[in-house]
Amino acid sequence: MGKEYLIAGNWKMFKTVAESREFVRALAREFDSTPGLEVVVFPPFTALDATHGLEPKIKIGSQNMYFEEKGAFTGEVSPLMLRELADCVLVGHSERREIFAESDEVVNKKLKAALKFELPPVLCIGETLAEREAGKTLEKIRQQLEKDLQGVPAAEMGKISVAYEPIWAIGTGRNATAGQAQEVHHFIRQTLLDMAPGNTIKILYGGSVKPENSLELLSQEDISGVLVGGASLKVETFSAIIQHALKLLNA
Ligand code: PEP
Repeated sequence: MGKEYLIAGNWKMFKTVAESREFVRALAREFDSTPGLEVVVFPPFTALDATHGLEPKIKIGSQNMYFEEKGAFTGEVSPLMLRELADCVLVGHSERREIFAESDEVVNKKLKAALKFELPPVLCIGETLAEREAGKTLEKIRQQLEKDLQGVPAAEMGKISVAYEPIWAIGTGRNATAGQAQEVHHFIRQTLLDMAPGNTIKILYGGSVKPENSLELLSQEDISGVLVGGASLKVETFSAIIQHALKLLNA
């Protein structure tokens, strides 16, 4: 089987309900559904209902969730609630880890809760600049995978996607080179195969992805898609990245 691509857009805390609907409608006009291509956007909670199912070729994901099913957790949203409104969920984005102090233990609970409620999780991992400069990138990645996936049955692993997002590359305009990204993706793939032999987990790259670098990144053997922040906020730039995946699929 040939390569399949997942092109994902994390909108963070941007876009009103009206803007989100308008974006999804406009994006859908820019590409044809194609076997091997999956497109998903992650709007804020407030726009999930208005965008979910709006355009069948664009999946809708949630940027976050709590791990409990229900209860006295003011301000939180559960996987049971989200599965009516979303096709998948981001877990462990570095902004959640850094700004909201989410530990690997919490990320692990969220990941298991997402799987329990059949909401496919996209697990985000990545090293800091200090860790990279100290030559500790692969060690950090292995630790995160081991902690975040602890106790996940091998049979469930295929439902997870992993996004490798070096923290120093997120929102900085400084992307990992295609070679740097490929090296870590290959390591992630091997580590995941050791944990669950035979799995075909998608591994996305994230961190200052834009049309200028997406073709080269997507061409790498172990890169099965991209998680795009800033460049996913404009139809023009996000659809240009989608076009690069289509070009590689049709090559
Ligand atoms: C992200 O938010 O996951 C991200 C990678 O952001 P950016 O593309 O803006 O670096």
